[in-house]
Amino acid sequence: MEKLNSSEGCVVHRRAEPEFSREKEGVEGEKGARNGSSTPEHKVWNNLHLLLVSLLLSVFTMLLIDGCAPPAQPWRVFRLKIETLWDWNALGMVLAYTSLQGALYYLPFGQVAEGKIGHNGKRLQYNMNGLYAFAVTLLLLGGLWYRGVFQGSMVGDRTLQLVCASTVVALLLSSGLHLHSLWLPPGQLVNYGKKSNFLQEFALGRVADPRVGRIDMKQFVMVRIGFMGWAVVDLSFLLTEIEKHGAPSIPLLLVVTFHLLYILELLTDEASVLPTKEYTQDGLGFLMMLGEFMWIPYFSSLPVYYLLKRHPPLSVHWAFSLCVLYGLGFLFYHLSNVQKDGFRKNPEDPAYAHLVTIPTNTGKSLLVSGWFGWIRHPNYLGDIMMTLAWCLPCGFCSLLPYLPVMHCANLLRRRAAEIESECHAKYGPAWEEYCRRVPYRLFPYVY
Ligand code: NDP
Repeated sequence: MEKLNSSEGCVVHRRAEPEFSREKEGVEGEKGARNGSSTPEHKVWNNLHLLLVSLLLSVFTMLLIDGCAPPAQPWRVFRLKIETLWDWNALGMVLAYTSLQGALYYLPFGQVAEGKIGHNGKRLQYNMNGLYAFAVTLLLLGGLWYRGVFQGSMVGDRTLQLVCASTVVALLLSSGLHLHSLWLPPGQLVNYGKKSNFLQEFALGRVADPRVGRIDMKQFVMVRIGFMGWAVVDLSFLLTEIEKHGAPSIPLLLVVTFHLLYILELLTDEASVLPTKEYTQDGLGFLMMLGEFMWIPYFSSLPVYYLLKRHPPLSVHWAFSLCVLYGLGFLFYHLSNVQKDGFRKNPEDPAYAHLVTIPTNTGKSLLVSGWFGWIRHPNYLGDIMMTLAWCLPCGFCSLLPYLPVMHCANLLRRRAAEIESECHAKYGPAWEEYCRRVPYRLFPYVY
């Protein structure tokens, strides 16, 4: 079998080729699973914080969506009328989209990637056909729109109801997973230690790697529901604008293009997400489910919704500057991720021979030149710059469309600290040396 690339975190091979065999790791993983000694203790949240986020995240998102309407319009959420918040058609749309993605997961195209070792001691396999599934989804959406079966306004005028319906679907799916987990042996569950309780387990997830048939539920909700759902919501807002005004406004078109490029970047290398801590450490519970069904599609598309409702002007010079900001952010993000992922997969690759590294006591080395010699998280900086570039076309009349960039900066700042403390624990003095030689985390000479 021709191995395309491999790392401790993930291996990708062609679908038609025989299964990649890692007998030694398989046997070791199996032993660990049998001993029940394989699951280290997972962090828990503060109970009150967890309860509030679980209960209020959807309400908060609905308030944000409602707040995008022109100031003269009354708040719909506060009317508390059932028809403002609930619509069976919205539920039907969420279920239809979810079922479509479930079916497209089985498309016989793309590669199969192997990720971490599962509870049975075998490496987990993931279908990497997200790009094909996306192409089919877009063709279907375009075709249905052209034939008049689907209209953008079915999403654009029903956003609050879709948030409610997505919340209900997330609740039902996570309840199903939770119930199913009650029959699983402890070796297959996330270990929350002595602080474990129903709330923690339900919200953060009891099962680490749930599967339905061949579908890996984590990959499914993160990529197919969250990221692709975000693109579909964005495009529906764009179609709503076309339906109402004959053509999309330049700012709206610009932001949707920025979002689509970001989503396509992920889909062209879907396997790159497998070494992230969401895949390797976290469980799949109500919060992750809610995040992917509701928060990612509707919170991330907030600037587009704002543009749809308010139509702020955008000068050519400003649009050009935003393209430059986005382009630079995209380069930082993409190139640094490619360098880090490539080096992690094969540090011996001649492409990285010119880079300076620090050896660690685990046998791995740390990059101390190239992108990771500039700042410690160049990919996060690129992410923040891109997010800023897609909020700025909304103008300066409201803070609301800037919440995505504030959230992104805060989340990545905290994530950088968390990843660094894990790397410090793993690499000890080598990590300290790296921090000494590359003193800035996110912004050169600032932070
Ligand atoms: P990273 O991609 O930065 O991965 C961190 C890992 O990279 C470390 O654990 C270590 O791996 C390795 N690493 C770090 N520094 C070095 C170095 N100097 N040399 C060699 N290896 C190094 O983090 P994430 O997994 O969190 O993020 C992945 C992508 O997802 C990023 O582009 C991020 O922007 C994006 N993201 C975006 C979010 C958003 O809301 N916009 C949220 C979360 C992620 P090891 O321990 O194996 O050695």
